[in-house]
Amino acid sequence: MKNKYAILSMDVEDWYHLYYFLDKADKSYSMLDGFTSYIDLLNKHNVKTTFFVLSELADIAKDQILYAVSCGHEIACHGKTHIRPLDLSLEEFEAQITEAKAKLEDMIGKEIIGYRAPCYAIDDERYKIVQKVGFKYGSSKMDVPGHPLYGKLDLSEFKQPVKGIYTKEGMTEFALNTQKFCGKHIAISGGGWIRLLPWNTLMKPLIKKYLKDAESYILYIHPFELSKKMMPKVPDTSLLTNVRARRDLGKMDGRIIELIRLLREAQFQFDTFADICYRIEAVK
Ligand SMILES: [Zn+2]
Repeated sequence: MKNKYAILSMDVEDWYHLYYFLDKADKSYSMLDGFTSYIDLLNKHNVKTTFFVLSELADIAKDQILYAVSCGHEIACHGKTHIRPLDLSLEEFEAQITEAKAKLEDMIGKEIIGYRAPCYAIDDERYKIVQKVGFKYGSSKMDVPGHPLYGKLDLSEFKQPVKGIYTKEGMTEFALNTQKFCGKHIAISGGGWIRLLPWNTLMKPLIKKYLKDAESYILYIHPFELSKKMMPKVPDTSLLTNVRARRDLGKMDGRIIELIRLLREAQFQFDTFADICYRIEAVK
């Protein structure tokens, strides 16, 4: 039987990095305690994973990053700031990810080989830069046409040794999983999607259906979704945005535990992205 891989990744950013709060939120308030909560939750369930860290938070989150490494998790790169790469020039983008990679490598004393674009806002030109600066895998491909934040990545020249995992010339891309529902693409991987859409009647059945013939499953969540702290109200943002940011925040632990059970029942093995790259021999 073919191996089936699950990666329950986290993008390590703070609540105020949410795109719709940009430049309006109080940055002195942090919800990064959810980073530690998630490491503890995964350790308890014997799951290893990958954390994509924003390097501008590396000093603040240093103890947590080193704790994650000491528990056998992988640290990868989510860029320097959370500005969408598509809003940066190619030169700015290259400078930022080069600096972020070096900063994280200095901190953990190990090569960082993975990159995920903030807001999945990547394109083919920027993807070449990701490779050029020395990353060996990405996880930024999100296929939700018409989404206002996500970018577009053409993987038609890549091979697919495992369904959902694409390789070409030493680079591997782990695509985020989506499912069609009523003619729309729904990201069954996503923190926000899993938190905001009905869990029992929509998301859980969609994930179960997807797992039946899938070979890879990726989750992405954020520290604020597992924080024990309240999310502050942000001035000059709509009621809808404020509600959207807060909805079902206390329910994510339970959903992740249920997801781990579903994945184990469907015989998925939990791993880091880096280990899977080595396992499928995408990286020698
Ligand atoms: Zn992010």
